[in-house]
Amino acid sequence: MTNSISTDICIIGAGPVGLFAVFEAGLLKLRCHVVDALPQVGGQLSEIYPKKPIYDIPGFPDILAGDLVQNLMRQIEPFHPTFTLGERVERLAKLEDGSFQLFTTDGTEIFCKAIAIAGGLGSFEPRKPAVESLESYEGGRGVYYMVRDPETFRDKRIVIAGGGDSALDWTIFLADVAKEVTLVHRGTTFRGAADSAEKVQNLHEAGRARLVLSSNVTHVHGQDSLEAVTITANDGTAETLHVDAFIPLFGLTPKLGPIGEWGLELEDDAVKVNTLDYSTSVPGIFAIGDINTYPGKLKLILCGFHEAALMAQGAYKYMFPDKRYVLKYTTVNGVPTL
Ligand code: FAD
Repeated sequence: MTNSISTDICIIGAGPVGLFAVFEAGLLKLRCHVVDALPQVGGQLSEIYPKKPIYDIPGFPDILAGDLVQNLMRQIEPFHPTFTLGERVERLAKLEDGSFQLFTTDGTEIFCKAIAIAGGLGSFEPRKPAVESLESYEGGRGVYYMVRDPETFRDKRIVIAGGGDSALDWTIFLADVAKEVTLVHRGTTFRGAADSAEKVQNLHEAGRARLVLSSNVTHVHGQDSLEAVTITANDGTAETLHVDAFIPLFGLTPKLGPIGEWGLELEDDAVKVNTLDYSTSVPGIFAIGDINTYPGKLKLILCGFHEAALMAQGAYKYMFPDKRYVLKYTTVNGVPTL
C-alpha cells in the first residue's frame, strides 16, 4: 500500500541544515515533513563524525557532532515534524496548482506546497590515497577512512594523514585518547582552520602528538591486520613506523544522486540558488546547506542555518503571495513549549 503524506514544506535531507529548517519554518507556522535516505537523522554529523568536536557553532565553544544533532531534534520537537527515514527521494513532479508530489525509493508519496532540498553531499564516498594494498586492511583491520567512535583508538598507535579540518580536529582529539598520534601532511601549510593548525603544532612541541610535514604515507604493511606504515618525505627519505591504525582523511567524493535529474540549474554538481531566499531555478524549490552553490559559498553548518532562515521566508511568500509576513523575534512569536 502506498504511504501518502501531505505537508507544507517537504525537506529532503535530515542533516543539521534540514533539521534547523524545521525550526525556521515552524516559526512561520509551516508544517514540515523530512525525508532522509539514511536510517538516522543528522546527515554527515551522524554518519561520518558523531564523536568529533565542532568548534564553530555560535554559543558553543565546543560541541560533539552527535550532541548538536540531539539538540537540534529537541529544538524542533515543539513543531512536531514528521519523518520518513531510510528512503531516498527519487522523483518529483510539479502539479498544476504550483504544489509538488515527491516519490521515494520505497513508494512513499509526499504532497507539499514547497520543497527545501537539504541533501548535503548527496551520497558520499571517502577519497582514498593511492597506496598499494590499502583495501586489504579495510573493514576493521587497521585502515579507517572516518572516525565513528574514538574509543576504537584508545591506547593505540595511530597515523592520521591529511591537511584539512578533519585531520587537524581528530589529531587534537585523539592526542588524549590514543597512545601515539602522528599526523602526516604532504605540504607545509594546512587547509584547515589556522587555530586548529596552531593547536596541533603546540601538541607536537609538547611531545603529545607528532607532526610530519612534506611527507606522504606510501606503503602499508602487515599480515592479517595493519602492523606498520612507511612515511616517505618529499626529499625521498623514508621511515617505517609500527602502528595499529592508519586514518587517511582526504575528504569525500560527493555524488549528487537523483537530485541531479530534477531539472534544476546546476554548477559543479551543486544546485545554483538565488541568495535572496535560496530559491533554485524552479519556483517553489529551494536548496540550502552543502547542496547549494552561489558566489562566496562556504560549506559550514553555520552558513546552512542562515540559509534555512531565509529559505523559510521565501517558501512562505511562495505559498502565500498575498500575505505579508512581519518578522518578529522568537520571544514575540512564541515558540510552543513542550
Ligand atoms: P548533510 O549533513 O550532508 O545531510 C544531507 C542529508 O541529505 C544526508 O543525510 C543524505 O542522506 C540526505 N540526502 C541526500 N540526497 C537525498 C535524497 N535524494 N533523498 C533523501 N535524502 C537525501 N562544518 C562545520 O560547520 N564545522 C565543522 O567543524 C565541520 N567539520 C566537519 C568534519 C567532517 C569530517 C566533515 C565531512 C564535514 C564537516 N563539516 C563541518 C561540514 C558539515 O558537516 C556540513 O557543512 C553539514 O553537514 C552540511 O549539512 P547539510 O544538512 O547541508 O547536509
